Amino acid sequence: MYPVIDYDKCTGSLACYLVCPSYVFTTRKRKGIKEAVVSHPEECIGCEHCLRSCPTKAIELVEK
Ligand code: SF4
Repeated sequence: MYPVIDYDKCTGSLACYLVCPSYVFTTRKRKGIKEAVVSHPEECIGCEHCLRSCPTKAIELVEK
């Protein structure tokens, strides 16, 4: 599995970035807002912490 972020829903909470135990996410600045980016999808262990932590349900886990 690996996460996909829906940027129509993402508000830049960085919750996924902060909770992920596998360092799948990094951050970038876009339109003045710091937001998470999936940069190492191969490291995902499918723990779902990112799904549960996201306040706007902007993350979906998909099959590799
Ligand atoms: S499912 Fe777990 S390991 Fe995978 S990106 Fe989300 S928090 Fe990280």
